[in-house]
Amino acid sequence: MDERFEERKRMVERLKEEFGISERVARAMLKVPRHLFVPPNYSREAYADYPLPIGYGQTISAPHMVAIMCELLDLLPGHRVLEVGGGSGYHSAVVAELVGKSGKVITIERIPELAERARKTLKSLGYDNVEVIIGDGSEGYVKEAPYDRIYVTAASPKIPEPLIEQLKCGGKMVIPVGDTIQTLYVVEKDEKGRLKKKRWGSVRFVPLVGKYGFSSLF
Ligand code: SAM
Repeated sequence: MDERFEERKRMVERLKEEFGISERVARAMLKVPRHLFVPPNYSREAYADYPLPIGYGQTISAPHMVAIMCELLDLLPGHRVLEVGGGSGYHSAVVAELVGKSGKVITIERIPELAERARKTLKSLGYDNVEVIIGDGSEGYVKEAPYDRIYVTAASPKIPEPLIEQLKCGGKMVIPVGDTIQTLYVVEKDEKGRLKKKRWGSVRFVPLVGKYGFSSLF
């Protein structure tokens, strides 16, 4: 237990009350010290439920968004997961807790400085089931494909084709699609490779910038 544990516990209790977050996701979030993933000048706000700046015009998502995406992904021990938009590394740490030591998280971040910082934080906390890659995640990461689960933490103009290809049959993807305000989609790929898309609701993410994303920040 660290010195911010009680604050974190209160944050998790609020998420359970307000968003009906499951015990499993709540337990995972209770384990991850969010205050170590935010820049020191925002540390005091680390357990408030809103996004915070992490530098380079990017943000760490609000805790409720991390929790909701984890619920929608239905993560199980042993899953191989691709995260597009690694940012601070916080969301990948929560997912790493849910897939356990037998699972693996590959997270891709396009801004090298953020990727380096995330790598250091994750390593210092012992998350050796998370690998941080610098690159354009709109192209996926074919070297470790296929994935049981894929999630994108930046807004895409459409679902990138390489991500569909790199998702296992029977797998699930969660992705925000749209420009200034987006729709969060849950995409399921059945055993025959057919896609079923469900809308979860409206969300707001920073843009996915890359070959299959937007050409620049909006
Ligand atoms: N999941 C992150 C966390 O826990 O801190 C928050 C991610 S932030 C909302 C979105 C991230 O996506 C930013 O760090 C941004 O640089 C990154 N990004 C945008 N386009 C990308 C791309 N094509 N490939 C990889 N990362 C990208």
